[in-house]
Amino acid sequence: MKKLIIILPCYNEEEILPRTIKKMESLLRGLIKNKKISPASRICFVDDGSEDKTWKIIADTCADNKLFCALKLSRNFGHQSAILAGMYDTAADIYVTIDADLQDNPDCIPQMLDEVVKNGCDIVYGVRNSRKSDSFFKRATALLYYRLLKVLGLNIVYNHADFRMMTKRAVETLKRFPERNLFLRAIVPLIGFKSANVFYDRTPRTAGETKYPLKSMIALAWNGISNFSIVPLRLVTFTGFFVCFISLCFIAYVIYRWSLQGTIVGWASTVTIITMFSGLQLLSLGIIGEYMAKIFMEVKQRPSFIIDDKIGLEDTK
Ligand code: UDP
Ligand code: MG
Repeated sequence: MKKLIIILPCYNEEEILPRTIKKMESLLRGLIKNKKISPASRICFVDDGSEDKTWKIIADTCADNKLFCALKLSRNFGHQSAILAGMYDTAADIYVTIDADLQDNPDCIPQMLDEVVKNGCDIVYGVRNSRKSDSFFKRATALLYYRLLKVLGLNIVYNHADFRMMTKRAVETLKRFPERNLFLRAIVPLIGFKSANVFYDRTPRTAGETKYPLKSMIALAWNGISNFSIVPLRLVTFTGFFVCFISLCFIAYVIYRWSLQGTIVGWASTVTIITMFSGLQLLSLGIIGEYMAKIFMEVKQRPSFIIDDKIGLEDTK
């Protein structure tokens, strides 16, 4: 029987944790009882540098109950790094990552397991049926964003976030991607292997607040584009060509007017041209700078996460 580890990244989740713990425990017990997974299977919380009582709740739970284990990161590294820490620093045959707020339906896990065990998939994506629980703003921006990614040539599973199941083989392969700047939902499809989608309805958060304010969402979105696509850089080149062409036409026009020996080219047009060109130049430099910053961050090879403490994982690694 396969050993399953369910990884739950947590950042300041004290309000929702008691509910999550109860739900996950009954789910895992059920799976073990039905002999779907090995009794060595675990639920692993990854505390992403929480400032509230999250770690205390997790530590107490682990002390009481052998089904739970935990990792504590040395500071807040972000959702993507927390997931990675959970997968890289535990040992299992099958991994599931799911948000600690249980907005993604954990009852899909048995179905995901069937896809792996019976159908031989290495990766199973949890895909949201609808975005009814999201605000209009989040829905509209998400749709636009997925469209944009498609145009930029990025292959990502529509409406899939970070609820997914991966086999040990898939996780080992993921380790060969050395990127520091993580956008897992775009990297995982690059692994290949047989995969499947499992659909579910995403429910609103029942307690606590979202840990993804607009700022983090924009950062994640830009990461998704700039880590996987050079189209923005190419756009700069094309814009450069286009602007050169326009300015050539403009020069031709100026020469023509000059040959008529008449009017002086006006101040307004000069100013317009100067501002337009300096704007374009700054924009182009900005885009190139963004990519340079990416290279700068990557060459430093800093760790994506640092583990401060472990509970119940001594036997694994
Ligand atoms: N999270 C994390 N580190 C962070 C931010 C979030 O580990 O820096 C976790 C958080 O505890 C939750 C998951 O990532 O389990 C998703 O966050 P959230 O539910 O706030 O995002 P949303 O569902 O609103 O997009
Ligand atoms: Mg959430």
